Amino acid sequence: MVTLPGDEGLLLDLLNTTPVVDGHPRDHLASVDAGLAWLAAHGQPVSAEEWHALREVRSALQAVVREERPTDAVSPFMAGVSYRPVVAGDGISWELVLPEGRAAAARAVLAWDALRVSSPGRLRPCANSECQLFLIDHSKPNTARWCSMATCGNRLKARRHYERAREGEGRPQAAATAVNAVPLPGKGHMDT
Ligand SMILES: [Zn+2]
Repeated sequence: MVTLPGDEGLLLDLLNTTPVVDGHPRDHLASVDAGLAWLAAHGQPVSAEEWHALREVRSALQAVVREERPTDAVSPFMAGVSYRPVVAGDGISWELVLPEGRAAAARAVLAWDALRVSSPGRLRPCANSECQLFLIDHSKPNTARWCSMATCGNRLKARRHYERAREGEGRPQAAATAVNAVPLPGKGHMDT
């Protein structure tokens, strides 16, 4: 996985804490210990309150990026966020003020919005419908579809190859149509 700088990395890592592993949905932030370790590893304030907010903002951001919820799902996490002017050197600089207990959650939302402005449409869900991961496409043509070519990209390619091979086995037309009507293993089990 590509490590992204700063809050963009924090955002993508957070969105990708609910992967599907061997067909089972996982949550890397399920326990308080895991949550506190995640916060520490990402240089964020470490507290149970931060962990709770992180899980809540994750649900909101995942739903917004998947276009399942409107953008205002993130508004609760913006309460108490402001910029403070600081006189420094020859002038004024602006310092980000984050609410206590929700600093990491607020950072994730700000990173999402910064991406929305700077790189519209480039943060998106993996095109593999059985995958719950997200990607940020920084490629010039903006055509990346999978969280990882090594996993989802190759898996889908292999499946298409398999489907073509089956179709090419010379069955009578009617039988081939009937076979194609049966869902492939793994499809249609989106219970997450
Ligand atoms: Zn994927």
